[in-house]
Amino acid sequence: MTSRQPPAISSPPPPAPKRRSRTLTRAEIEEVFRRFQSANPEPKGELEYVNAFTLLVAVVLSAQATDAGVNKATRALFAIADTPEKMAALGVEGVSRYIRTIGLFNTKAKNVVALSEQLIANHDGEVPATREALEALPGVGRKTANVVLNIFFGQPTIAVDTHLFRVGNRTGLAPGADVLKVELALEKRVPKWALLHAHHWLILHGRYVCKARTPECWRCLISDICRYEPKTPAPVEKPARALLPPR
Ligand code: SF4
Repeated sequence: MTSRQPPAISSPPPPAPKRRSRTLTRAEIEEVFRRFQSANPEPKGELEYVNAFTLLVAVVLSAQATDAGVNKATRALFAIADTPEKMAALGVEGVSRYIRTIGLFNTKAKNVVALSEQLIANHDGEVPATREALEALPGVGRKTANVVLNIFFGQPTIAVDTHLFRVGNRTGLAPGADVLKVELALEKRVPKWALLHAHHWLILHGRYVCKARTPECWRCLISDICRYEPKTPAPVEKPARALLPPR
């Protein structure tokens, strides 16, 4: 008679780890901005300007250029032309001379002079505070209008540039196939209290941490929330070379 083995008691398989959705939850988004706020309560843009007009011009010049490169050129330009009247009087040639180091300087000089003339003709030389009026100016698109409305007029707009587009998609904050989709998703999903500074927090994060080629995930303050995988590990420090004895 063979002895019967008791049936093996199989323990139930461990529950499969919950897959996180591609998009951050409201609570996670709240936490992301809480951390940005605590690290940098008053984030500032890096373009230099002295009034609404020079901010507008600086933003127009910054398309496909770095803020540092624009600042270098505009310091001398704004010292002699900080109003639409003075800028228009310089003319395209005159403006070009100051901004030659910036990409597409010819087109940008034409736009800067034309927008100065329109500000004088249609807005008494003042920069308008509405998106429609700003976008009607030469060289001013939705992104430029959003930056001016946010920085100078304190409106809770979010200008989506290459950095925000990347960060919105990588993290799962506001995935979207184009900049407008990301902008509208951010406007809907960012908590109200964070809307005013969201543009700067995200741009600075994209510029200095969540970089295009290699995001520096190992030192990122939202790494545990962000959906990007695989995370970039910390660089390994090379051991110091042993000193060779002198020959
Ligand atoms: S964890 Fe990496 S990919 Fe995610 S936001 Fe931070 S730097 Fe960017």
